Amino acid sequence: MELIIFDRNDRSYVEELTGEPDELDIISDEYSLGEPALVVCRVRRDGELARIEGEVTARLSVQCDRCAEPFDLPVAGNFGLVVRRLALDEPAPEDAGDDEESGDEDMCFVENSVKSIDITSYVRDAIILNVPMKILCSEDCKGLCPVCGNNMNEGACSCDVTRSDPRWGLLSGLIENETDK
Ligand SMILES: [Zn+2]
Ligand SMILES: [Zn+2]
Repeated sequence: MELIIFDRNDRSYVEELTGEPDELDIISDEYSLGEPALVVCRVRRDGELARIEGEVTARLSVQCDRCAEPFDLPVAGNFGLVVRRLALDEPAPEDAGDDEESGDEDMCFVENSVKSIDITSYVRDAIILNVPMKILCSEDCKGLCPVCGNNMNEGACSCDVTRSDPRWGLLSGLIENETDK
């Protein structure tokens, strides 16, 4: 995803980009990007310095951690980036490492002939870092019946869940094994 920075006369503008799933390559056991992500970039340029603020919105294909139903999860994130173009023969500042970061912004130095930068990795991070730890189809998802696997959101089953919770079964099995010895 190339964002053009240094090839425009405007000093301040908003650019909208879309990130294709193939390009962003967001895929894991828990989620995948099934449709393009939308990125709104606010660019403010001052000579050879450009400050970029990106807002990313995407929809991930996920599965509920409790009931295993697939659904689309909206995810939103931000990134900040400062790009400085170096004049011909100007060496990159030596302490241009992580220490240079101010707040959430990354600093990046480019050659003076560069007109655009690749923001793919920033967009990818903004999405992945905002995936919740626990993915639930709804706050009060009732999950699956531990006995018959019925989706409790679609109606109750007739199982006696309080007595047959498999976790207790496993525990009492362990205790029995201990006493058998
Ligand atoms: Zn659920
Ligand atoms: Zn059941």
